Amino acid sequence: MNTRKRALLQALDAQPATDGDGVRIQRNIANRALPGFDPFLLLDEIASDQACDYIGGFPEHPHRGFETVTYMLEGSMKHRDHLGNEGLLVSGSVQWMTAGRGVLHSEMPMQESGRLHGFQLWINLPAAEKMCEPNYQEYRPQDIPLIALGASSSARVIAGTLSTASQSVTGPVGGVTTRPDFYDLRIGAGDSVDIPLEAAKRGLIYVFDGSVLIDDGQHRRALGKQQLGLLGDGDGVTIYAPGDSRLLLLAGQPLNEPIVNWGPFVMNTRAEIEQAIRDYQQGSLV
Ligand code: FE
Repeated sequence: MNTRKRALLQALDAQPATDGDGVRIQRNIANRALPGFDPFLLLDEIASDQACDYIGGFPEHPHRGFETVTYMLEGSMKHRDHLGNEGLLVSGSVQWMTAGRGVLHSEMPMQESGRLHGFQLWINLPAAEKMCEPNYQEYRPQDIPLIALGASSSARVIAGTLSTASQSVTGPVGGVTTRPDFYDLRIGAGDSVDIPLEAAKRGLIYVFDGSVLIDDGQHRRALGKQQLGLLGDGDGVTIYAPGDSRLLLLAGQPLNEPIVNWGPFVMNTRAEIEQAIRDYQQGSLV
């Protein structure tokens, strides 16, 4: 089989930001040229041992037109929406929320000290699904399968199917039109792993511990801690880690539709954004 390895096209530093009630985050994708990351809209990392960085949480706020994925590594957050749905996100669990026509919710830390480490990813919805009914998929740590890679490496497969020569593992998240792959990779020092990535999909890598080199067969380009890497075309990626490293590998089918975003609303036209703002102000978003 002839695999075409993806190159690292760009390594972008995460940008420190605050969101919610003073929560300190590292932000990626948002504020940059969105079409280049289609179907991904935003990737935030929260990582702090200091309660003052996260204790304010994310009090009630709206979303319309996309999906939010919350993945916790350490600590816990409580989710509550306008219908009274509640979910507790603990270490290693994931919540995949399809906001559709509208969700009003809060996401609050369930701890007053200790380390909180997690991610929120926003994935766009196709025009035909932006006004769908909201939906939740929640998975406990034990629902997320682990696959061994290389000598001392492994991946938790949250969404998509990851296949090696000896094994194929499918994550629990399903029914998403952009067919996302969401892998949490741990690569041991000196290991090199080959991950198949479907050619039709956009590929991104976010390193949250250590650093890696992306090897396309001709060049090796470095991606460091708290950098987002945009991958080029191809049907696989080779990642080498000089020291123990951790990263998220994300892939998804681009939508190739116009994107008009305003804060928590992501639609296709300006008129649809103005409608979302009116709906929110008049209490008819949800
Ligand atoms: Fe939210």
